[in-house]
Amino acid sequence: MAQNEKVLVVDFGGQYNQLVARRVRECNVYCEIVSYRVGIEAIRAQKPKGIIFTGGPNSVYVDGAPSIDPAIFEMGVPVLGLCYGCQLMMHELGGHVCKAPEREYGKTLVHVNTDSEIFAGVSPDTICWMSHNDYVETAAPGFTISAYTDNCPVAAAEMPEKNLYALQFHPEVLHTPEGKTMLHNFVYRVCGCKGDWKMDSFVETSVKALREKIGSGKVLCALSGGVDSSVAAAMLSKAVGKQLTCVFVDHGLLRKNEMEEVCEVFGPNGQFELNFVCVNARQRFYDKLAGVEEPEKKRKIIGEEFIRVFEEEAKKIGAVDFLAQGTIYPDVVESGLGGESTVIKSHHNVGGLPDYVDFKEIVEPLRDLFKDETRQAGRELGLPEYLVSRQPFPGPGLAIRIIGAVTPEKVKMVQEADAIWREEIAKAGLDKSISQYYAALTNMRSVGVMGDERTYDYAVALRAVTTTDFMTAEAAEIPWSVLQTVTSRIVNEVKHINRVLYDCTGKPPATIEFE
Ligand code: GLN
Repeated sequence: MAQNEKVLVVDFGGQYNQLVARRVRECNVYCEIVSYRVGIEAIRAQKPKGIIFTGGPNSVYVDGAPSIDPAIFEMGVPVLGLCYGCQLMMHELGGHVCKAPEREYGKTLVHVNTDSEIFAGVSPDTICWMSHNDYVETAAPGFTISAYTDNCPVAAAEMPEKNLYALQFHPEVLHTPEGKTMLHNFVYRVCGCKGDWKMDSFVETSVKALREKIGSGKVLCALSGGVDSSVAAAMLSKAVGKQLTCVFVDHGLLRKNEMEEVCEVFGPNGQFELNFVCVNARQRFYDKLAGVEEPEKKRKIIGEEFIRVFEEEAKKIGAVDFLAQGTIYPDVVESGLGGESTVIKSHHNVGGLPDYVDFKEIVEPLRDLFKDETRQAGRELGLPEYLVSRQPFPGPGLAIRIIGAVTPEKVKMVQEADAIWREEIAKAGLDKSISQYYAALTNMRSVGVMGDERTYDYAVALRAVTTTDFMTAEAAEIPWSVLQTVTSRIVNEVKHINRVLYDCTGKPPATIEFE
């Protein structure tokens, strides 16, 4: 591993646990999330430079509430408690936490003592994000109060001699504009970190570690063309060159030119040393999908067929030592392996492949990285920007952006319309501010007129959303002129489309994808 310093985020079930770790890493300090259940010895064994307790839904004073051996405050390691973590620190050390007379929620004016190490460089009156029903009525003995609000006598407390700090609010969310400074202060001024977590050193050490682990073994990697698998493949290629075989399955449901782009980068004329297998399985998927309208059924067919195709290719290659997966840190956390968050999805980066391939061990070179770090690692490895900054694209691909049954003709229509939409969005300089945008083919046909002739053709729907976490989203406000240009280009350039619609719905009630 690249880093020598580590900060541990001890998770008490808070919804922002990943954000806390990300913010710390943005300070160039490596950070991992552990559940509070691992206990104090496991935490000590990791030799952290600092410990951060997250928020959590419980109340510290209720029997059975998540807690941790208070000896953690005596380990000589700085501790920063956030929200529930703050309340827990106060509660365990003799302060009084109870239900607040006024709950605080949202952006709140906080008065801070800028002599505190945590608030160095922060304005004395600063906005912080609050989200609590309980509050610290009296701080624990020996602590000084370093911030307060109108409703909250103890918005922050500290005992600098012991390096213990508690914040009632959430510095990790962007709604706390000076939160990053506070976390930076904690890791640098309190924990004394130097900041040795950098992407270039991560790439270098990971390549070395992979080389050692893999030795002369063979590695198989399912390349989807998405960011994660592309970066994993690039890294493995740097590490073991021709011992790596990448299999890319073109299921005929990719975006326009996607197959060509992946082949250009990873194929024999590309910059990476590896064995590259590109399988044109388009017809197989079209045959299987013929006449199938139900979204879940389409998804299932594609998932199963993908495994079949991959399995056949893997058989040709024979037994391998390692199966590579592009699992990234949020996948690990979301599958309940790190931290305390409930299992959101059990994660199989390549759709349940492990059961079907003859291999000894899985390698996951990106297991420690957040998405933005993965992209950065990709840039370090020399991947082109269009691959690295790619939007999320679902495994079943265009099949779920074609309402109803899939045909090769419909795939072509949606590919062309989508390419125009994306091109014009980029031209208008909107691509950086919109989180995801694509075209979908509705199953609706309607009457139109073109060149004095009656048409009876399809309607395409344009989608563009802004979101920070993809859990909720809003329809993006696209300038009318851009929509007009796109509309006229699509109806002119794409055969069998005579109507263009813009989807104004947010998520909820809609989803980002159509099916
Ligand atoms: N459950 C605690 C409260 O309501 C802590 C909340 C939190 O950590 N966001 O005060």
